[in-house]
Amino acid sequence: MQWQNKPARDPVQLGIRIQIDAVAWQKFLCWVEIAKGEVSALGLVEEIRDVDAGLITALLVTDFFLVKQHCSLDETTMDSAAVAQLIADLENQNVDSRKLRCWAHSHGSMSVFWSGTDDDCVSGLANGEWLLSLVVNKKRDSMCRLDQYHPCHLYLSDVVWEVYYPLRDGLAEACFAEFQAKVIEGGPAGNGKFTTYERAQDLNAAHERGALTDIELENELDWLGWERDDLEQPF
Ligand SMILES: [Zn+2]
Repeated sequence: MQWQNKPARDPVQLGIRIQIDAVAWQKFLCWVEIAKGEVSALGLVEEIRDVDAGLITALLVTDFFLVKQHCSLDETTMDSAAVAQLIADLENQNVDSRKLRCWAHSHGSMSVFWSGTDDDCVSGLANGEWLLSLVVNKKRDSMCRLDQYHPCHLYLSDVVWEVYYPLRDGLAEACFAEFQAKVIEGGPAGNGKFTTYERAQDLNAAHERGALTDIELENELDWLGWERDDLEQPF
């Protein structure tokens, strides 16, 4: 029997970042590891905004909570009284419980996908605005989805997300000081954010002096989404 090849996934890169705090992610993965099969958690999500424009630049899951639930190899049902208790506890700690906007669950040893039951669960969690959902498995495959409930229910089933590693206090300053003391850099002034013209000049120069082979140059152009002509006449 021949297995049908599944189409490769191609998660959508949103205009905002979807992030999960590293410690929160590890916490959830611990529960995923312990569970025989499925397990659910609820996450607090912060809307990160640009200081000047006030627009949302990222949705950051800052923490996950485990509530009482019944789980099996292929089902997970959170106890509704326990969810209500979590909301009350958060409010008592002056945490806005409306930030409880991430539902994460594991499929245990199964693949990651959105089942009909998952769709029903996401619909049941409708809050009139938006919800992030995450499905993972013990192999640490993951899929993230973003639902919006207003003005109608729409969702993207597979969006790009990343782990957020917060900088320890003082770490950025210490790295900067050590870098300044030890690294002597050539090349143009600035922080390495080149214009396309500068990037093309830089690539040409590296290729000419042999620092980039033909194949490496082709790979770099592929990665940039450039044609060979773009090198000669930067757009
Ligand atoms: Zn599921």
